[in-house]
Amino acid sequence: MSQNEKTLTPKLIKKLWLAFVLLVLLMGSSYIFITGYFANKYSQETTQRLNADVAHHVIAEKFKDASPFLEDGSVNKPLFGDLMHDMMAVNQSIEVYLLNESGDVLYSVVLDHGDKSSIKTVSLAPIQSFIKNKGERFVLGDDPRNPGEQKIFSAAPYSVDGRNGYMYIVLAGKKFQEISDNLMGQYFAKLGIGATFLTMLFSLVIGLMAIWFLTKNLRLITQTVRKFHDGDLEARIADPQDSDIEVFAKSFNEMADSIVGNMDKMKSVDHLRRELIANVSHDLRTPLAILKGYIETLQIKNDTLSEEQKKEYLQITHDNVDKLSNLVNQLFEYSKLEAEQVTPVKEPFSITELSHDLIAKFRVLAEQKQIELQLDNPQENCMVFADVSLVERALQNLIENALKYTQANGKVILSLQKKGKNVEINITDTGTGIPVNEQPFIFDRYKQVDKSAKKHGVGLGLAIVKKIMDLHDTTITVLSKPKEGSSFIFNLPAYQI
Ligand code: ADP
Repeated sequence: MSQNEKTLTPKLIKKLWLAFVLLVLLMGSSYIFITGYFANKYSQETTQRLNADVAHHVIAEKFKDASPFLEDGSVNKPLFGDLMHDMMAVNQSIEVYLLNESGDVLYSVVLDHGDKSSIKTVSLAPIQSFIKNKGERFVLGDDPRNPGEQKIFSAAPYSVDGRNGYMYIVLAGKKFQEISDNLMGQYFAKLGIGATFLTMLFSLVIGLMAIWFLTKNLRLITQTVRKFHDGDLEARIADPQDSDIEVFAKSFNEMADSIVGNMDKMKSVDHLRRELIANVSHDLRTPLAILKGYIETLQIKNDTLSEEQKKEYLQITHDNVDKLSNLVNQLFEYSKLEAEQVTPVKEPFSITELSHDLIAKFRVLAEQKQIELQLDNPQENCMVFADVSLVERALQNLIENALKYTQANGKVILSLQKKGKNVEINITDTGTGIPVNEQPFIFDRYKQVDKSAKKHGVGLGLAIVKKIMDLHDTTITVLSKPKEGSSFIFNLPAYQI
């Protein structure tokens, strides 16, 4: 692999980085938000619990000797002035309110009296809940100075001179809020920067490690692909099942296998094609040369030749024209089958009837050659599901061969037999037979056992039969013993009526 070829493209790296940065920012901000929320809650709850008894103490201490109300019913302001003084000395952030039974603010002790937006009535529900739970439950109440806001508080009921109400002390008053907001802001900033920085650092380390591990497999695969591309057809990804990208690794290996398989197939097809062309041109040349010779003789010596000779020469030319046309027809048929231009049109038909017709057709030829041609088991009507014209072609070739390679007084038998879901078709002859070592090759096109057999045919007959069998998803077998004869057997699916 050359140096400038990276496993990951800069575009992909950019995308990965962007995803990382976004993730870090998102994680950082959620972390800050969650921490801030709980930190605030924690601090509020602690303050409230710590100061839960403040209101109770104020009542116990201040209302012991003096009433919060004067004789005319108005609030004892000096007492509260004193109270404020004490409170401020201890904690400036608290605000004290004197409430009546319905929660109306009778008097307030706060640092800033000029606040106009304050509310005059406080909701009693949180106060009652606080008193009921003795300050042990975290509860927020109204802030009279900031309507709408909820604050931690301490509260206790009083009952003086027949007047009832509540002492309500807001613990996180304005001052507390200001300081808290300020501190929170500072901590948030620090926390934010710290969290983001740390997350960034960890993500960077983990990200780099992840990329390294991921690209380790990718690098390996890329190297193998490149090797294959450079001509090493044996290059495969080792142990694809252990790869992190197993599917990809396996797919590459399978793809490489099928490419190599196809290349081998193409090579052998190419080799056979060349062989075929060479053989065919040889076979075309011979009858053509004979034709040319006899026609020239007829032209030149027309006057000197006897009628008998003329007839004989014409017969020879006729035979050779037949041979040529037969060869061309077979070649045409075979090339059509090989190019897969033929799609079988399967239908139910009677193979028994077809066999009768074929036997009748070849009877004359068989009689000429003094061969006994028979149809075995003709009573039973066997129906098959196949392409009738292709099956007829195959049977024709097989019978032709059987007659071709059988001597006078021999026998050719076509037999049909139902076997389970199939019909077995058997063409047996008592002819020359085929040597065992040649039997596997006779279905290859242009293979002729005996080269002198060329006078019989062109060597395409069985190749055509084989193609027809392939189209019917069936196979043909040959059983043969030299000098005793041959049997060609194949099955077709029976059609159940
Ligand atoms: P050909 O046109 O030469 O007959 P085929 O493809 O039909 O070509 O047959 C291929 C070869 O198989 C023949 O040349 C012959 O040697 C052998 N063969 C085929 N059928 C028979 C048979 N019934 N008996 C003996 N040999 C046969």
